[in-house]
Amino acid sequence: MTTLTNTQVLELKSYINGKWVTADNTVDIINPATQQVIAIAPRMTKNQTEQAITAARTAFDNGEWAKTTAQERAAILHKIANKIEESFEEFVTLETMDNGKVYGEAEGDIQDTIACFRYYAGIILHPDGETYPVPDDVQAMVVKEPVGVAGLIVPWNFPLLMSAWKIAPALAAGNTIVYKPAEITPVTAFKLFEIIDEVGLPEGVANMVLGQGSIIGQTISESNDVDMVSFTGSTEVGRGIMRAAAGNLKKISLELGGKSPNIIFADADFETAVDYGLFGIFVGSGQVCSSGSRILVQDTIYDDYVKRYVERAEKIKVGPGLAKDSHMGAIVSEAQMNSILGYIEKGKEEGATLLTGGHRLTENGLEEGFFLAPTVFADVTQDMTIVREEIFGPVVTIQKFSTEEEAVRLANDTDYGLAGAVFSNDGAKALRVIKQVRAGITWVNDYHPTYVEAPWGGYKQSGIGRSLGKYSLEEFQEVKQINIRLNVAPVGWFPQ
Ligand code: NAD
Repeated sequence: MTTLTNTQVLELKSYINGKWVTADNTVDIINPATQQVIAIAPRMTKNQTEQAITAARTAFDNGEWAKTTAQERAAILHKIANKIEESFEEFVTLETMDNGKVYGEAEGDIQDTIACFRYYAGIILHPDGETYPVPDDVQAMVVKEPVGVAGLIVPWNFPLLMSAWKIAPALAAGNTIVYKPAEITPVTAFKLFEIIDEVGLPEGVANMVLGQGSIIGQTISESNDVDMVSFTGSTEVGRGIMRAAAGNLKKISLELGGKSPNIIFADADFETAVDYGLFGIFVGSGQVCSSGSRILVQDTIYDDYVKRYVERAEKIKVGPGLAKDSHMGAIVSEAQMNSILGYIEKGKEEGATLLTGGHRLTENGLEEGFFLAPTVFADVTQDMTIVREEIFGPVVTIQKFSTEEEAVRLANDTDYGLAGAVFSNDGAKALRVIKQVRAGITWVNDYHPTYVEAPWGGYKQSGIGRSLGKYSLEEFQEVKQINIRLNVAPVGWFPQ
């Protein structure tokens, strides 16, 4: 594999029908901690995207890949996992430089990526299918088949991990793929495809098209030759994908945004609840779909909680991801940083109290990067923009509630339904409350851990469908019933 030194600039390419291809237009990929150019990526055209779709269609229709045995596909996924593991540090370093996250977070991402490929290599070997005790002399059974050509579109916040969540189950199930990483974070995707190029997939099975969402993502979503789109990204773009997919009624899976509540009861372990309150929002600089961006605290401990929370938030060391003492990294891009700063201004304008942060950090070596201070707002109301909209940055609101009913009402007063948590030492209450939170991913006395074995996805405007676990495999499969008459004879319905 090609490696990147501090001064080198990687020249990325797309991968279409088993060949490396480039484009006339390119875009600089920068490290958001330094604005150093780390790679140059092609901006592929609509026509090139259509070529990738045709390659995937042909590779699916010729049947070579779909007819491989589960063991053969599992072996390929294991090879991919092993090769990522062999280059573990390089992947971690590149992810840190491309996204801006801290090194320890990127380590977790790459470990989870490897685990994801291994999980789907394993689960595809698990016995599947059913038989039914139907009437007549008929044996009814169900078999699972690949959906066909799957378009995979991913965001920039977990560039490689979000890709693995789609690529591993899609290939395990026998689909061919047209994959589009986020335009600003394509570096580890390119590295992954260097590996995919080596593991012996038939031509056209796995295609990667680099460039703009409005061109490549749109072309994939609209294409009549694509059978399914699996998308992770913003709710706004997800809505557009749903419309575009209507043309040929392609199957869709949407993992979208969130505005998740983190409910802290007075009987919770205090320091644990403060700690996870910080972890829930400031990990990934708040650029995590499941972030606990709305902390709801019971009135009797509210003042103490807020005081301790701010004290701890101010100790978070913001810095470059590659510096081992940084706790929170850079914001992924200048545009994203400005969008977050815009929300902070809106919060102040609408009357919320800014307790700490609220500004860009530009001193002590952070001059060139896109760094924001951890930001905490109090005295917010349900109608404020910073309470209603996904900010996708290190900005949290802390609200007060008095009763269990009020906590549930505030938690559910959102268009989103991705994640949520409850902190309490009363097990029955914690379970009672978490069961009433309308969200797909929930925790009790915990925040954020994500397991490849368990389903991931949202209620309401946080999406459609589930990633991970057996659920993701099923999303990439069609379900077919086969009915076999055991005694072959005419039906005798019409006269002879
Ligand atoms: P985004 O919606 O702007 O982009 C996501 C992907 O869609 C990118 O690859 C982009 O190029 C592409 N795209 C853009 N316009 C498109 C179009 N018209 N047609 C098709 N594709 C298009 O999201 P982002 O800013 O990259 O990521 C942040 C968002 O992702 C947040 O809202 C976050 O909550 C969400 N997210 C959700 C999950 C989840 O599991 N639910 C996980 C991670 C991120």
